[in-house]
Amino acid sequence: MKNKRIYFDYAATTPLDGNILKKMLPYLKEKYGNASSIHKFGREAYEAIEIARQEVAKFLRCKETEIIFTGSATESDNLAIKGLIGALKHRKRAGEKIHIITSSIEHKAVLETCKDMERRGVKISYLPVGPDGLINLDDLSAEITVETDLVSVMYANNEIGVIQPIKKIGQIIKKVNQNKEHKIYFHTDAVQAANWLDCNVEELGVDLLTLSAHKIYGPKGIGILYIKDGTPINPLIYGGDQEWKLRAGTENVAGIVGTGEAIKQIKNPANSAGKRQSKIKIIEKLRNKLVADVLIKIKGSRVNGPKNPEDKLPNIVNFSFRGVEGEAIALSLDQEGIAVSTGSACTSQALAPSHVLMAMGIDDLEAQSSLRISLGKYTTEQEIKHFLKVFPEIIEKLRKISGR
Ligand code: PLP
Repeated sequence: MKNKRIYFDYAATTPLDGNILKKMLPYLKEKYGNASSIHKFGREAYEAIEIARQEVAKFLRCKETEIIFTGSATESDNLAIKGLIGALKHRKRAGEKIHIITSSIEHKAVLETCKDMERRGVKISYLPVGPDGLINLDDLSAEITVETDLVSVMYANNEIGVIQPIKKIGQIIKKVNQNKEHKIYFHTDAVQAANWLDCNVEELGVDLLTLSAHKIYGPKGIGILYIKDGTPINPLIYGGDQEWKLRAGTENVAGIVGTGEAIKQIKNPANSAGKRQSKIKIIEKLRNKLVADVLIKIKGSRVNGPKNPEDKLPNIVNFSFRGVEGEAIALSLDQEGIAVSTGSACTSQALAPSHVLMAMGIDDLEAQSSLRISLGKYTTEQEIKHFLKVFPEIIEKLRKISGR
């Protein structure tokens, strides 16, 4: 393993799959048309986008017209929330507030959007989570009022891998909607779930669902938003007629082609249910080895997140190592050529403890000593073994330095 770099940060981003790159390249070179042009170059680009859209629709089991491509999952989350709320304003009577229910452990793409809406007078309820990171469905029901317009709860969390009961939330909302004058819409950020969990939008009961290409071995800079027919949405970006006027701007054709291919790879026959399951089992086995060995070899270590395997993604583990800063561990591992993360990549510049761990009731010190390891389809047993060889020494050294 000497001199080989090891990547354990698949939740931050995945490497672009070589086969996907191959499919993208023609659209960066000879097939460079603008999809809005009427000539052959344009038609070629347009058709490529529509093929990608079909792949996404097959994956989510929805209509092609219900899919739009954006510039990131962050944009998709913003569009889902701000776009919907903007379109719903008219249905409020004087004195009535717009009301959104979300969870306290959402990705910042959702949380900060909600905070911005809050500054503009929208009422936001942030659902607490238990020590396992799960929301409580009774808390959700208790927060729903006649004013509630939107529930936005992530499918799987990017820091601890907890899977929220999206289908059950969908059922609760459906039931409430039967006797409610104004429908409650349901959005889920499924960015971290897509590789592992069923994303059938009908089954989940969602009206809006967000995906990101760069978490599924596709290119960076492409998001997807599923918008169920009949869901009112105002655009955030105005201009041309692209994406049914919901996202103006010349399409990133190569990126969208890569996104379609990435989605197809999750679902294609060589990757069909059985195969996908066996891939999940392989990752789970590697994760379990990693967790068991770390907990045995390193005193004062613990796993943050759900205990029940059914409640967590197979690829994300969040540890705390008492007495050592997560940041210091990540930097030491980096010197060994091993890439891990201290939490969500978007907040890794800041030293503030993770809002996810804090919401779970983990104290400041434990939260500061946390480390996220996320595995992916290129992770090997040798990489895990190598990690387990060098890691205990790193912790020991850092504990000596910190004197704790
Ligand atoms: N939502 C979740 C759950 C994520 O993990 C991420 C990326 O870290 C995002 C949204 C943002 O995705 P993007 O980088 O495509 O904006």
